[in-house]
Amino acid sequence: MTQLFGSIEAGGTKFVCAVGNESYKIIEKVQFPTTTPDETIEKTIAFFKAFETELKGIAIGSFGPIDIDPDSKTYGYVTTTPKANWANVDLLGKIANAFDVPFYFTTDVNSSAYGEALVRKEVDSLVYYTIGTGIGAGAIQDGHFIGGLGHTEAGHTYVKPHPKDLENHFEGVCPFHKGCLEGMASGPSLEARAGMKGELIPEYSEIWDIQAYYIAQAALQATMLYRPQVIVFGGGVMGQAHMLKRVHDTFSELLNGYLPVPDLKEYIVTPAIEGNGSATVGNFALADKISK
Ligand code: ADP
Ligand code: ZN
Repeated sequence: MTQLFGSIEAGGTKFVCAVGNESYKIIEKVQFPTTTPDETIEKTIAFFKAFETELKGIAIGSFGPIDIDPDSKTYGYVTTTPKANWANVDLLGKIANAFDVPFYFTTDVNSSAYGEALVRKEVDSLVYYTIGTGIGAGAIQDGHFIGGLGHTEAGHTYVKPHPKDLENHFEGVCPFHKGCLEGMASGPSLEARAGMKGELIPEYSEIWDIQAYYIAQAALQATMLYRPQVIVFGGGVMGQAHMLKRVHDTFSELLNGYLPVPDLKEYIVTPAIEGNGSATVGNFALADKISK
């Protein structure tokens, strides 16, 4: 009998649900906007019910913060999110109760990191950042996610402000910290500076140099803290084709020759899995792992 694996990418904007085969190829996929928890979870359950007899396991990669401690009373919950209606929601429990298969529960960026590490055969340490509505990162070392009490929160580290941001008194948009990485470099921060969405800001705008300065600081933090073999940047904002080169140049300046790093074109990269598929592939592999 065929074995199928389930992937739930639970994003703050949309949910992407997919079923894949033993080669982690997508058999069927749906996506829908993240509305109320009840409505969104109901749609998620309905999608997987059609595959119930063949499903071996399901992995959820969720927006956060989430509780990933299996010994905690609130394991599987979305916890302190500012997203309306979603704080303290038992995401895992509400879905898992509807099925008789094992579930793996982690962050969306951990799922993406797992997928990206899987397709890079020579790599066993990798950091994956998403630069989108929020910023987060997942770090992998020898097949394990880095984290102890909870998952890492690399989007909420403080960064050094760009001189232009100081000059313009731009303090950042994070509701918790203002000028953390997410506050200074997420999609909404671009919109707050420019008065228009990131996708509409022209390529010649100096905002991209400001943006690259922060993303390069993220790459520097990842380098110093984890010494990974590869740093992957995904998410909507990285849709700017010119961004990677700016980040390479700025990263070089900030590193200032302190450590040896690989050729930057191989070291600081965009996802190898196309079409925003890193988390889906990662989830299939995590579902496979949990079902063994
Ligand atoms: P999410 O983080 O909500 O899952 P995305 O990763 O697509 O989704 O990020 C959405 C954010 O990225 C929005 O703030 C959007 O304005 C911004 N964004 C999307 N595409 C681009 C682009 N090509 N250039 C700059 N910003 C973009
Ligand atoms: Zn923050």
